[in-house]
Amino acid sequence: MDVCVYGCAGCGAELTAPVARVPLPPETHLTYGHGWLPPLMEPGTYAVDPEPSGPPYGAFEDLSEAEAEARGLFAPVWPLSFGKSGRIVVAPGDSRGTVLIPEHGGDSCRGVCAGALPTMACAACGLLVASRVDDCGLWQAVWYEPDAVRRMPATAPAPARPSGPVPPVLPDGWWNPRLEAAAGAALAPLLRASGGGPVALPDGAVGDVFGRALRRLLPAGGPAKRAGLAGPGLPGDGLDIALVPYDPATCEPWRPPGGPATVPLPASVWAYLAGPAETSPVPASGTLPHGVLRDDYPLPDHPWELFRPDRRATLRTLARMPEVRLPWLRALYERC
Ligand SMILES: [Zn+2]
Repeated sequence: MDVCVYGCAGCGAELTAPVARVPLPPETHLTYGHGWLPPLMEPGTYAVDPEPSGPPYGAFEDLSEAEAEARGLFAPVWPLSFGKSGRIVVAPGDSRGTVLIPEHGGDSCRGVCAGALPTMACAACGLLVASRVDDCGLWQAVWYEPDAVRRMPATAPAPARPSGPVPPVLPDGWWNPRLEAAAGAALAPLLRASGGGPVALPDGAVGDVFGRALRRLLPAGGPAKRAGLAGPGLPGDGLDIALVPYDPATCEPWRPPGGPATVPLPASVWAYLAGPAETSPVPASGTLPHGVLRDDYPLPDHPWELFRPDRRATLRTLARMPEVRLPWLRALYERC
């Protein structure tokens, strides 16, 4: 596992706790209304955005076709960042030794957001090293400037990361936006792998998460490609399209045998889809005394509405696939 500390490129001061690399979460650049969001990253993790991120922003139409292609964009995206590429994101609690400069922030509402200049300086030497983001509707994060920090060996291990399934439903009854974003992002390679024809999904969580969107976007009838889960403990025999987790050690999608088309998912989302269906609580051992009725456990969370993959994540992902220039896939992009 890739664990390091990020330090100041000016003076070498440590600017993060030990952090382990994970894939950039699919919800990273999605915004959510006017409420507060939790930290984007789990404690002890970092991710790198290979693409330009942060201000300034511009219009996709300002790019020539060749410029768009050079950036890996094959259909319009909004908003389009003209910031630096390679920014490094950690949870705010994992930053160390910095001073906040709020007046460098951009136009924000209830918190701070990134501005033209980084909003955090190295406390030891004053170099502008990062930007804090915690405005309403934005995932809380600290974004380090790629040319103002350098990787240093970690002197302690990164904390153990919580593993296990993403909670699908929030306590207030809304679907977890992380699940919606991951499903939206996964829908793009799923549509590409469909070839524009029908796709058969297994019953259960996979069908619940992707079924309605695929029924809306793809034709019914005729021979269907078989899609399903493959990953550790699930070889995915006979699948045409395999929904696979990212390997937490390498940040690469798991490779199923036989080489089916793959649709990568965050490991916690894959674990949710692969997990058992809803179960009732049972005593760990033995049975309840005669005459005792259990009514002291909370009901499982049930959502207010049917699940919908986040279409913004679908569009963002489709726009980065050269195949979106094929007329049938471009038509699906327009319908999303
Ligand atoms: Zn410094």
